[in-house]
Amino acid sequence: MTDPGDPRSRSDAYLSPATRLGVPTITVEGGEGAWIWDGEGRRYLDMHSMAGVANLGYGHPAVVAAICDQASRLVHCNPAYTLHEAPLRLAERLTNLVPGDFPKRVAFGLSGSDANDGALKLARSATSRPLVLAFRGAYHGSTYGALSLSSVSAAMRRGFSPLVPSIEHVRFPDAYRQAGSSTAEEVAASCIAELRDTLRTTAPADDVAAVFVEPVQGDSGVLVPPVSFLRELREITERNGILLVFDEVQTGLGRTGTMLAAEHSGVQPDITVLGKALGGGMPISAVVARSELMDSWSAPGHVFSTGANPVAAAAALAVLDVMRDEAVPAGAAQRGVELQRELATLQGEFEAIGDVRGMGLMIGVDLVLDRETRKPDRLLTAK
Ligand code: PMP
Repeated sequence: MTDPGDPRSRSDAYLSPATRLGVPTITVEGGEGAWIWDGEGRRYLDMHSMAGVANLGYGHPAVVAAICDQASRLVHCNPAYTLHEAPLRLAERLTNLVPGDFPKRVAFGLSGSDANDGALKLARSATSRPLVLAFRGAYHGSTYGALSLSSVSAAMRRGFSPLVPSIEHVRFPDAYRQAGSSTAEEVAASCIAELRDTLRTTAPADDVAAVFVEPVQGDSGVLVPPVSFLRELREITERNGILLVFDEVQTGLGRTGTMLAAEHSGVQPDITVLGKALGGGMPISAVVARSELMDSWSAPGHVFSTGANPVAAAAALAVLDVMRDEAVPAGAAQRGVELQRELATLQGEFEAIGDVRGMGLMIGVDLVLDRETRKPDRLLTAK
């Protein structure tokens, strides 16, 4: 029976389990800065940034003002049918923000998932090649294309096959669990060797449209590859006419201590995927790609009725202004060093903390059953 006074029981009754991770227990009433609170006055420091969306925290006045201002004038019109200043300005800003000394254009969407689907469609249409490579442990989203690119757990794929075909997964470097006696560089080199082998055997290089990679693998536990790994990926893809796609949905917008994580390695991907923090909580995502690639697909190949609506675009412009004016990425770099130092101290005290790693404020604390085997202690059991 549903208890009308109990949000958990109503959540069980009315929300699909596929849309919830575990059973949420906090009924949020408000938020400000890094804090959220419930109706009983309990406050929580949101170290999860609501899955990397709240990079500016909750209720940043400039973002709220931009949303209210635009909403009071016009909530919705669509760039498929009309011109509007906000998405146009945003597209221009993003082409300058994303690394790459070449012309770029933007395709907007509503979520990181649809943007990765967009990058997948774009890569295939631009190259006329069928195969795509992605990495084990990747999370690219939950729409069919993005889900097919993902391999973080069986739970997200179970029962959905057949998935989008011709996507193969190769090993991503995990210096903590794959190392044995090797260095992080050696682990990364062994992954690159496997990738080369894949391109020689099961996925012939000249049949491969794209390699999708998160510059720091997020949902599978904040795995930071050495910069050499990303540089080698760039070198291999470039030499073989394969597009390199950086999924910066989680790493982008200041999270790793730079505006985009690509800046750490200096790698210029052909396609960059953005979402999450871009809209400051409003749903907006973007595929930012080499301009000439965008000539290969046509409408309505990537049109969304409520995509890039003026309110979401205005919010995103405000987010970019705040990031610049308050030097948010540099702040994240500095706070990240402090946080990692304090977490390392905790690691000295608690056996359960096997590893602390990350970049900027994208930080993972690896909880283990014991330090010898490094077996993960899964709080959120991904079955
Ligand atoms: N890519 C990455 C790297 C992500 O971390 C996520 C979300 N965890 C997505 C894509 C999917 O984004 P969304 O949930 O907005 O569809």
